[in-house]
Amino acid sequence: MDRRADQGWIEVIAGPMFSGKSEELIRRVTRYHLARVPTQTFKPSLDTRYAETEVVSHSKMSTKAIPVADSDELLRAVADRTVVVGIDEGQFFDDGLVAVAELLAGAGKNLIIAGLDLDYLGRPFEPIPSLMLRAEYVTKALAVCHRCGGPGLFTQRVVQSDELVVLGATDAYEARCRHCYNPNEASQQALEI
Ligand code: ADP
Ligand code: MG
Ligand code: ZN
Repeated sequence: MDRRADQGWIEVIAGPMFSGKSEELIRRVTRYHLARVPTQTFKPSLDTRYAETEVVSHSKMSTKAIPVADSDELLRAVADRTVVVGIDEGQFFDDGLVAVAELLAGAGKNLIIAGLDLDYLGRPFEPIPSLMLRAEYVTKALAVCHRCGGPGLFTQRVVQSDELVVLGATDAYEARCRHCYNPNEASQQALEI
């Protein structure tokens, strides 16, 4: 495919859980799809929360998605004719996703990547921060703090676990604002029990 000068860039949608990242990804990909621009959406095969072959938001919006194990498999699965490449749960990919996104954008594809920018301990969740720095367009999504209704920018884990990823459990997390967020809350609860 000849690269067109007006195509080929990276968009990142970053924020905590419940901030509407998947909704926004689905909205952006769907409008291209409806206009008959070839799209493909990918997700890490690790994320099997709702459906193997769909991205589904907490508000039940959905779009077809191809599960891939890592950034190499994603690169191999992108078809020549595809113009828009959607990627959900970008934080569950390896760091190679940055180079893959840049390669695809350089080849004229429009990347729309959604993912968590911070983990449940408030630490940068790679590769999303690196992708934000390499993106033309960055949207920082906020949720509503479950405690006070303020701007939720953190993902609070409310069950006790030391695993970086506790999958399949929306109940295990809440969105919190900076005042209500406490990364030690779950372990303190465990001590009090
Ligand atoms: P993300 O992909 O960022 O986790 P989704 O796009 O899956 O978010 O879901 C966003 C939707 O989640 C909102 O439109 C709303 O219906 C629902 N939701 C549930 N809890 C909250 C919250 N605390 N703040 C904002 N939206 C919430
Ligand atoms: Mg999501
Ligand atoms: Zn709050």
